[in-house]
Amino acid sequence: MTKPVSKVREAKLELYRKKGKIHAKAVSGRFNTLRWAMVWLTQIVFYGACWLQYDAVGGARQAILFDIAERKFHLFGLTLWPQDALLLAIALILAAMGLFLVTALAGRLFCGFVCPQTVYTMLFTWIEAKVEGDHLARLKLDQAPMSAEKLARRVTKHGLWLVLAGWTGFTFVGYFTPIRELAGHLATWNVGPWEGFWVLFYAAFTYVQAGFAREAVCQHMCPYSRFQGVMFDAGTRTVSYDVGRGEPRGKALQDMPAGDCIDCGVCVQVCPTGIDIRDGLQYQCINCGLCADACDEVMTKVAKPVGLIRFASELELTGTPRASGRPRLAVYGGLMAVFIGLGGWTLGQRSPLLVDVLRDRGSLAREGADGRIENAYTLKLMNLVEAPRDFEVAVSGLPGIDIVGTREFASEAGSVKAVQVTVSAPADGAGSGVRHIAFEIRAKQDPAARVVEKSTFFLP
Ligand code: SF4
Ligand code: SF4
Repeated sequence: MTKPVSKVREAKLELYRKKGKIHAKAVSGRFNTLRWAMVWLTQIVFYGACWLQYDAVGGARQAILFDIAERKFHLFGLTLWPQDALLLAIALILAAMGLFLVTALAGRLFCGFVCPQTVYTMLFTWIEAKVEGDHLARLKLDQAPMSAEKLARRVTKHGLWLVLAGWTGFTFVGYFTPIRELAGHLATWNVGPWEGFWVLFYAAFTYVQAGFAREAVCQHMCPYSRFQGVMFDAGTRTVSYDVGRGEPRGKALQDMPAGDCIDCGVCVQVCPTGIDIRDGLQYQCINCGLCADACDEVMTKVAKPVGLIRFASELELTGTPRASGRPRLAVYGGLMAVFIGLGGWTLGQRSPLLVDVLRDRGSLAREGADGRIENAYTLKLMNLVEAPRDFEVAVSGLPGIDIVGTREFASEAGSVKAVQVTVSAPADGAGSGVRHIAFEIRAKQDPAARVVEKSTFFLP
């Protein structure tokens, strides 16, 4: 017996857009020019900054280096240590606030103009266009059966992509390990396992993300596209289609004259994410402005004013007067000012010397040859400046308390040095028990590098 066929139509849940590869039409215009200017700017900085050298006291070193092995972050003359994590946290908060502020002002500007995903997709697409031709030629090539020419073009394209991805991976790792040494290691096939792994990992990551995933990252993987809406308000200027001016699109209707949109579809053809901006604000839109460039070109050809698609807010498009100010801008701007101030203050208060005092737990106290009581300590001297320092240690807190033996210690530039210090006090100076004392450590070359650390002295 056959089962009755269910008449119920299955509801389809689309977790991602099932669409072929997008081959966007090339377009020129002010936003395209601005995007390429940002590509040049960001990539000159990224590929170039890791090669800059800085003349530190101990010799030239890489100017920008997140030295993971030594747990230091060099930024020209400034060296940050793990103890400066607060500064890093402030920098990250500032970056987030800056992003929120820009988004509230002009939508996903970061996505359309400076996000690495956008920038590398542009570079990879540029290579693709140089090798395989314009968007129509690429579509044709995709559909054509494999041939010697197709194979040659594909091999050339992927070869160039791999070179760019490899150089990107190498450059990225060069910010975490000295890039000149890394280049030497790679040239002699003598690269360490972790360095090799991360170079390959970032190269593969770039190759896949920019060569294959492209706009899918912006649409389905990037969390920012999903929560950007909370930063928008009616005054946020995003790339928008002026419905009032453009509709009804195409030909004039019986009782209504045609709008300015001639329904040519060029704005859709140039969109790197394959959407139609005329459908309204969509989370897939990265605010790149290419559709605005394309439409301006069309409007110029049909002798109509440009700006049918433009950066405009909801209030501007609907002609609604602003009822009040924009508190979110004040909040983001205010928070940025607070964190800039906090960062500046933290940097100003930063001591060039940090000291940890550890009591020797093995023996609480011992009696010296002269009858005085001695306690032993380990002092961890962290010289945070890029210059050698001579540190002088003094102790106070008990009558007659003093350091036994050497009290001066030399420390190398940007180093941590553990030194043993013995302190003695008269046995009958202050009764028995635990007494509070203080170490004062100062750099002989720099009076500002002075630290007072509390500790205890045990008198039996
Ligand atoms: S490019 Fe301009 S005129 Fe052409 S379809 Fe898009 S909005 Fe309409
Ligand atoms: S709709 Fe326009 S602004 Fe948005 S992604 Fe497409 S081309 Fe860029």
